[in-house]
Amino acid sequence: MSEVKIVALPGDGIGPEVTQVALDVLETVLEQHDLKLNVTKLPFGGTCYEEFGEPVTDEILQTCKETKVVLLGAVGGPQWDDLSANKRPEAALLKLRSELGVFANLRPIFVHSALAGASTLKEEVIEGTDILIVRELTGGVYFGKPRFTSEENGDPFSVDTMKYSRSEVQRVTRIAFETARLRDKRVCSVDKMNVLESSRMWRKSVLEVAEEYPDVELSHMLVDNAAMQLIRNPKQFDVIVTGNLFGDILSDEASMLTGSIGMLPSASLGGENGLYEPVHGSAPDIAGKGIANPLAAVASAALLCRYSLDLEPAAKKIESAILQLLEEGYRPADIYTEEPGTKLANTGEISNQLLTSLNEMADAS
Ligand code: NAD
Repeated sequence: MSEVKIVALPGDGIGPEVTQVALDVLETVLEQHDLKLNVTKLPFGGTCYEEFGEPVTDEILQTCKETKVVLLGAVGGPQWDDLSANKRPEAALLKLRSELGVFANLRPIFVHSALAGASTLKEEVIEGTDILIVRELTGGVYFGKPRFTSEENGDPFSVDTMKYSRSEVQRVTRIAFETARLRDKRVCSVDKMNVLESSRMWRKSVLEVAEEYPDVELSHMLVDNAAMQLIRNPKQFDVIVTGNLFGDILSDEASMLTGSIGMLPSASLGGENGLYEPVHGSAPDIAGKGIANPLAAVASAALLCRYSLDLEPAAKKIESAILQLLEEGYRPADIYTEEPGTKLANTGEISNQLLTSLNEMADAS
């Protein structure tokens, strides 16, 4: 049996609870593909600070870099809120992303028909929505220099710089086109080229990459229109590729189409490295109660199979198990509404149910 090596960083709060479910699911599905999961579990965030006085150590970062595939839970909690910025759990996240060089953040926005009622939007608008947002993660206005605050004639002012190079745009665009090939083969690039110089560079660079992918349809949209279209008719999108700032805003907007933050997975990719984590935080208010929704972490494990292991059938099996669970009416507390046919399920019950359906799928095939 070949081995699949990953690092798991369960982190703080509900992180360990949801990560364990994701690991159990991953182990089960990999076994069905004759692969043995080899997990190195390491402390990260607040738990790492308690042990080592740092939210992440150089050794931990080195192990993540060598292993290349990392499954993360969540970090943070009120007990660490007063630490200095570089000791806070969240600092470990930024360090890890930068050490791994993950420059593309992928957020699938998939509306499960069983949950269409949980969104604040009308069911007929969102039902069938299946979008993948690819956000550039390490460039743009969040990192551009110069960046300073000064004063002019007694009036203080601040400057940020939105800078994009052709190579930065093209490497993230390639990821968008490659992932579109696994989906409906449509990419919409979002920019603000009617106003911004950096957006004109963005569009020109995207157009050049598109020539390498004649089988994928490319369209362009201005970001203000994209913000409207996501709410008006989200089903029109397949893959959206955009810069750091626009992607930050649009992905949070789009996440609300699904109704719950406990359902959203993410993947951050760069070179051979992949970092997989639920979008939600450590939810200290419910930590240790056994009621956390593990489905975002489990869906992140599906992305790990898809993008780091190149094991699409395993990814699909995990996603089908999630779908089946929801269709059978199981609901974790954060998405439970007293609809007929639904039953409230805790983290352990959801885990058991997922493992049962994965085993049934294997028996049936
Ligand atoms: P949060 O996502 O942790 O929680 C927001 C609300 O959603 C809470 O009521 C919580 O109970 C609920 N929730 C979130 N995930 C859930 C799940 N899987 N199942 C059920 N309910 C869930 O955001 P917050 O409260 O703003 O932040 C809490 C801590 O998490 C802070 O320290 C913050 O810095 C940190 N944080 C970490 C990450 C990360 O690790 N990537 C992301 C966001 C926030």
